Amino acid sequence: MNRPPGWACALALGLLLLTACSSGGNGGGLPEGDSISLAQATPPPQSLLVPGESAEGTLEAGETDRWVFAAAGGDSGTPSLVTVEVWFRPSTASGPEAALRATLLAPDGTVLAEEEGTVTLPPYIVERELPQTGSYLLRLEALSGTPGRYTLLVTLSGERYLTRPEVYSGGPPAGWPLEELPTGSSGFAWPAPRRAISGWYFHDPSNPRHIGLDIAAALYDPIFATADGVVSFADVSGGYGNLVVIDHADGWQSWYAHLSAFSVTVGQEVRQGEIIGAAGSTGRSSGPHLHFELRHNGVPVDPLVYLH
Ligand SMILES: [Zn+2]
Repeated sequence: MNRPPGWACALALGLLLLTACSSGGNGGGLPEGDSISLAQATPPPQSLLVPGESAEGTLEAGETDRWVFAAAGGDSGTPSLVTVEVWFRPSTASGPEAALRATLLAPDGTVLAEEEGTVTLPPYIVERELPQTGSYLLRLEALSGTPGRYTLLVTLSGERYLTRPEVYSGGPPAGWPLEELPTGSSGFAWPAPRRAISGWYFHDPSNPRHIGLDIAAALYDPIFATADGVVSFADVSGGYGNLVVIDHADGWQSWYAHLSAFSVTVGQEVRQGEIIGAAGSTGRSSGPHLHFELRHNGVPVDPLVYLH
């Protein structure tokens, strides 16, 4: 994998020094919700899928790949058609007889569609309507043989996909109330340098009580404020480890857990994109990553729906 660039190391050192210099805690009790259980173990790796853009993967014998994409659901207006296509390269597979299954799950874990196929006749899913706004899981399972390398494409009719790979530059997701987005900033920016999910996502069917998004990060990766706001917590907090909480406009709050270092203190005003700390693996964590939560009036919401 990629080695961290030099600036990241310099930054990490700076952050460590900063932490070492700030003596004592920031006081205050543990933030509400700390009793909510975090991941107990490392789930299989997941990847972020951007509807309309193809992605590559490799399915070995006995493996299951999990892909996640966010989409606006049925309550948000015009009907949507979702298609899931998979192509294999038989030359890289163990044989054309390798069988697999594709399953599409709704944000609440309901199975929407399930198709079986082979490398030469891969499963193809067409679904008329996505029922909810949130994170959809696409599971590819090797039933027999080694399917090998594949290309995956999810398309949605209309402009109803969320979570683009580029930096946010447009309006709020279709069908989302404008007044619920923080004023004075352009939505919620992706809070880490790497755009991938390394663990559980919001209400992951295999861990329904997980109320955040586990974003891939290397140790000391810079972590950014998702929007303008004021730091309301920056301290150790149980399973969250080193935790930063930022209060935003209109009842919004963002949480950044398992940090290795802080670069902000309570009461500090931050701007969108400002570095607030460095990624780590403190608290209940099986490896460096960012556990990110977004809450509105205290209620956790699916970050993938809002992040751009
Ligand atoms: Zn997590």
